[in-house]
Amino acid sequence: MTRRLYQGIEGEIDASHAILAETKRKGTCGEAAVRRARSTDKLREECGVVAIHGHPEAARQAYLGLYALQHRGQESAGIATADGYHLANIKGMGLVSEIFTDDVLAKLPGPMAIAHTRYSTTGDSALLNAQPIRVDSTKGLIAIAHNGNLVNLGNVRARLERDGAYFQTTSDSEIIVQLIAHSRASTLVDAIADSLRQVEGAFSIVMMTRDRIFAARDPHGFRPLSMGRMRNLDGPDTIVFASETCALDLLRAEYERDVLPGELVMVTEDGVTSRQYSTGVPQSSCIFEHVYFARPDSRVFGRWVQESRDRMGRQLARESGVPADLVVPVPDSGVSAALGYADQAGLPFRFGLIRNHYVGRTFIEPEQRVRDFGVRLKLNPVRNLLEDKRVVLIDDSIIRGTTSRKIVRMVRGAGAKEVHLRISCPPTISPCFYGVDTPSKRELIAANKSVEEIRRFIEADSLAYLSLEGLLDCCDGEEHNGYCTACYTGNYPTQWVDVEEILPAGATV
Ligand code: SF4
Repeated sequence: MTRRLYQGIEGEIDASHAILAETKRKGTCGEAAVRRARSTDKLREECGVVAIHGHPEAARQAYLGLYALQHRGQESAGIATADGYHLANIKGMGLVSEIFTDDVLAKLPGPMAIAHTRYSTTGDSALLNAQPIRVDSTKGLIAIAHNGNLVNLGNVRARLERDGAYFQTTSDSEIIVQLIAHSRASTLVDAIADSLRQVEGAFSIVMMTRDRIFAARDPHGFRPLSMGRMRNLDGPDTIVFASETCALDLLRAEYERDVLPGELVMVTEDGVTSRQYSTGVPQSSCIFEHVYFARPDSRVFGRWVQESRDRMGRQLARESGVPADLVVPVPDSGVSAALGYADQAGLPFRFGLIRNHYVGRTFIEPEQRVRDFGVRLKLNPVRNLLEDKRVVLIDDSIIRGTTSRKIVRMVRGAGAKEVHLRISCPPTISPCFYGVDTPSKRELIAANKSVEEIRRFIEADSLAYLSLEGLLDCCDGEEHNGYCTACYTGNYPTQWVDVEEILPAGATV
């Protein structure tokens, strides 16, 4: 028997929980075990989704959208298209530009497309689970692409298998399609709403049949999903959905609105219709999108990411300013917060660390020897800026602490007199179950050490994190979003979590 934590109340559950535990281990977007990511000292990107309705070159538009979302996943990508009769689907391992050459895009005809880019493991199973997933169901051909993680899939999958469902993948997305296929609802849109009500967790989904596009967000609104429009003078507008608005910008689509938490949007030749398939669930959008994941030029959950990060830096300076000569970001994600910190503190901002943008997947390997090399390959100090200076380093998170220690040593090794590390969010003390690949609590340094112990471990002269109240304030505007902060508090907005993942170091179930 495995125990479950039910928002603080422990109890017993059946063997299907073993599959639930798999939910966390599989990492992002419902794929299989992601050991490689956990060997790195950074939280990993989630997935990105795009959908296009009503464009003569939908596949090319989807390709451009994926290109803008490449930061959300670099391991595999896929595009499915429909022309009213057929549904084509091509997926591959690698970067979007590596997979989708002109010849490949030419094999994807039709005015509708959905697309997905994913962070995942490697090998055959990764390609099998790459998205979009295309399933020939009792409700017809459906392609689906999904960002996020379901948390009750063990129970749902076991029930579907008892009802005769045969799964081809371990993907969450297939569970949703199987629920649609097994729904007793008479129309497809009712069947989709019915299936989405049965799953719990994080999902921003785009779906396509031969002649329709659907887009939906989970009732908590964990992951972003925006809707845009390309005006066509000689016909109906092209409707676009994308994980982040930076994809709409590249497509020259106007941002119209976010898909709402608990909303299901349908696009047909007749236009856009929408229904709330779920109501009354408090919003808990992922605040880490604003801290780290989303691009700063995107508008996520109705607010600009750059503005949130700038405010985080300013607040950090107010909460834990320190006498110094210059402010240096850990590139790239620390840049906006460092600009805010420097402005608030009245200190010069300098790029004292240079990131090599051409180092990527090749060096993400589990061996310690290669990882040690990897940090130096990725970052290099600018010695003439740092020599004899008191430096405030700004970063967005400390996960295991090993990378932060290497960066502090690197800056000190370049001649800095003092190194003060400031983190633009609170200590990460608990793993994520909603689509962000985090290590278990045992491996999170802040779950097992005090701030002073972490300071000593990373060898900084001082260390401070942004307070939770400060972070929430920085991400709050006229939108009045409700945020998930579970990785900073351990308070999960859903009932299901994997109890083994939230045990501190040394504890056992
Ligand atoms: S646990 Fe953290 S990373 Fe996961 S959804 Fe919540 S805020 Fe985002």
